[in-house]
Amino acid sequence: MNKIEDDKKRIAKIMEILEKEYPNVKSDLINTSPFQLLIATILSAQCTDKRVNMVTPKLFSEYPTAKELANAENEDVEEIIFSTGFYKNKAKNIISCSNYLLENHSGEVPSTMEELVKLPGVGRKTANCVLGNYFEPEGIVVDTHVIRITNLLGFVKTRNAEAIERYLMKIIDKKYWVNSTHYFIRLGRAVCIARRPKCSECKIKQYCNNYKENMKL
Ligand code: SF4
Repeated sequence: MNKIEDDKKRIAKIMEILEKEYPNVKSDLINTSPFQLLIATILSAQCTDKRVNMVTPKLFSEYPTAKELANAENEDVEEIIFSTGFYKNKAKNIISCSNYLLENHSGEVPSTMEELVKLPGVGRKTANCVLGNYFEPEGIVVDTHVIRITNLLGFVKTRNAEAIERYLMKIIDKKYWVNSTHYFIRLGRAVCIARRPKCSECKIKQYCNNYKENMKL
């Protein structure tokens, strides 16, 4: 059997197990609209979801839609989002993004990858996040947990997020494109922890190349 066929079967088993292990997964970022998820995801760069959730309630109560945020003063936004890091750039990006939405999409968030990646501060990862949660997924969100775990499992040998995403899109059933990321994030936080994975208690160890390699030692 070639690698891709083998990987398709192996990851299907992994998805089945993780689906049972982590039912009802969803984004941890507080949001009530595509716009709010878009802004929260931009703020989550180099920052934890928990930290973002500490600033977005105030941000969204003062600037609930693109119309309000587009007209915000940089300094006012910077003050609210300061603790998320890189606050000057992030404030500039979310205000520019809101202006772009107003000028080009009547303030609404577009529903395609092609349009989303044209927004200031928005890359494939952010676009995938918004598409997966509110529209039709066009890809898979690849974050640090997904990068680490898919390498350990032996599906990929690269840290390049786009290359990993392309490969995962070939082997993961589309019905799991959104939740696979949530499963790997949960596994990465609780079990497959960076530098100290708890392999003995991992529910997918029988499908993990890293585990099999270490067992040989
Ligand atoms: S067996 Fe170990 S390395 Fe493999 S996914 Fe589970 S925790 Fe991570």
